[in-house]
Amino acid sequence: MSKTPTIDYEKRQALLKEIPILQKEIQHLFSQLDQSYHLHGAEVPVTFGFETDLLGSYTRPSGHEEEHFHFSLCFLGYSIEKPLSKEDRMDLYKHEYAHYMQYNMHIPAEYTWQPGHHGSTWKYCCSLIGAAPTPFYKAGEALLDHDYDGQMKQKTIFHQESKLRDHIKRERDYRAAEGRNVQYQVGEEIQHPKFGTGTIEAIEKLDRSVRLTIRFGDEIKKIDQKWLVKTTKYKRFSDR
Ligand SMILES: [Zn+2]
Repeated sequence: MSKTPTIDYEKRQALLKEIPILQKEIQHLFSQLDQSYHLHGAEVPVTFGFETDLLGSYTRPSGHEEEHFHFSLCFLGYSIEKPLSKEDRMDLYKHEYAHYMQYNMHIPAEYTWQPGHHGSTWKYCCSLIGAAPTPFYKAGEALLDHDYDGQMKQKTIFHQESKLRDHIKRERDYRAAEGRNVQYQVGEEIQHPKFGTGTIEAIEKLDRSVRLTIRFGDEIKKIDQKWLVKTTKYKRFSDR
């Protein structure tokens, strides 16, 4: 079998079956934390997706969005190629729960000096529940000893050395980001009003859009997916 960057249908079905188990795991942890901090995080809905650039997120209630936690099955699932360790999975839940805490409980004034989604307020919440106080995910991080005091009181610079854990942007303007939802798959045949029939050879997710590399006969073009007309024809690359 050849590997493609997208998750195929069978894999998605397998991952979807894991949702009840993951939900139980999250519910159990959040209920425990709720009891300790008199919160109601376990009552907040949890949704799942197949994002490959997002591990999880917490969305505050707003005019156009319901409060919810969201996790990507591409990282949480057991049936992915390199599943997270239980410790890292728990840390991921705690990371998002700390976001819930920062907006739903009283934070002592001394811990509010650093602004931002991953500022001192959030780090203070991490210190309470033992979450890794770093916005970026690194395997094995959950098992390290964290210098919470330093993290909460001193200015630190984060190095973006690994995967994004969550998107702050996602919480702010989810709707504006909808254009970046990939609507096509590699190997799919498309119709372009000017260039005719083409085949998608690569998919690139940008900030607000999705750029497709498409072959039209001998020519290769890079086109935003919003300019394409979806056809009913669907063809996958066959395995070589
Ligand atoms: Zn975060």
